[in-house]
Formats: sequence, structure tokens, C-alpha cells
Amino acid sequence: MLASSNQGKLREFKALLGNRVGDLVTQDALGIVGADETGMSFVENALLKARYASQQSGLAALADDSGLVVDALYGAPGIYSARYAGPDAKDEDNNAKLLRELDGIPAPRPAYYVAVIVLVKYPQDPMPLIAQAQWHGEILLRARGQGGFGYDPLFYVPEAGMTAAEMSPEHKNLLSHRAKALAQLLVAWPSA
Ligand code: IMP
Repeated sequence: MLASSNQGKLREFKALLGNRVGDLVTQDALGIVGADETGMSFVENALLKARYASQQSGLAALADDSGLVVDALYGAPGIYSARYAGPDAKDEDNNAKLLRELDGIPAPRPAYYVAVIVLVKYPQDPMPLIAQAQWHGEILLRARGQGGFGYDPLFYVPEAGMTAAEMSPEHKNLLSHRAKALAQLLVAWPSA
């Protein structure tokens, strides 16, 4: 199972895993309310989410804790990326807050996405698999593109000459933090 209810993440995980893990179900589909993300780091929160989901379901649980780290904001929104503009914030609210916070800071405004992916293979697993990766880019002055999710319309990737939201799903899945972390996890997870 995927210890998330985020449909954007589910789409990307399904595309990246292909048929390596049979059916991937989200926690909301199993009636599980996610763990409280009380950690101070991506890795702590990913582990909390995966452990809790595996305990609640009895299944192997994959969790991704991810977010955007902006140098000029001393690492914000960081682990609070999903709830930057408040507990029930939508992507547009978070993007609007990010632009407000960066108001007056000239381009380029370096930032990177982080993904930490944890696999808890069974509820009492003493040796969860952990992988982490980054994806570097810049925060634009205004949004561009309709694809992806979250901060993608503001996340410009210089090597690609476009934002993550202007990429096809296949293109994003070649470059992203999530793709790189998952590729590492799959090396350590030979049975997948
Ligand atoms: P989490 O569900 O607590 O891991 O929070 C992840 C949040 O980080 C998302 O809700 C987005 O705001 C942001 N985020 C993570 N990965 C991406 C991505 O690939 N594109 C855009 N935003 C992302």
C-alpha cells in the first residue's frame, strides 16, 4: 500500500513502478487516516507514515515524504510543503504563499525538491528500506504549465528549459526527486 492519499503521488508511483508491485492502494482506499507528521525531517516523517500504515493494514507500506526547499527562505516550506498556507491548504494557496514570501527576491531563486521514500515490509519490520533524492531548480516569478501537482508550475528546471508542470508525465518521471529515490529503493528491494 501507499501511505498517502495524494493522487499526484499515486499517479507518479504507479507509472514509476509499472507492474513490479501488483496493485498499489492508497491509505484512504483502505479507510486509514494517515499518521500525524510530527517529525522534524523528511526521513522521520516518511518512517512514521510507513510504519503506521503497515501497522493499520498489516500490509507492506511505501511512504514518500517530500517537499520543496527554498534557499532564500531558509529551507521553507520544507517538511511543511503540503500545509504551507494552512492545514487544509490547496496547491494554489501554497503557491500563492510561496510567491508572496519570495516577493522582492530577484531571479534566479534556487530551490530543490526532496523525496524520502521508505518501505516497511511488515508491521514490525526492524530494517525498513530508505532512499532519498533531490531535484534542483529555481522558483519562477509566475506559474507556467498545467501538469504535475503541488509547486510544479513554479518549479523551473534550467536543463530542461521548462517548469515541472510543462513536462509530460514521462519527462517528469525521468528527472524527478521521486523517480530518483524510487530507483534507489528498487535496487535495495530485489523482490519488487
Ligand atoms: P507530504 O505529503 O507531506 O510528503 O507533502 C508533499 C508536498 O510537497 C506536496 O503536497 C507538495 O506540496 C510538495 N511536493 C512534493 N513532491 C512534489 C512534486 O513532485 N511536485 C510538486 N510538489 C511536490
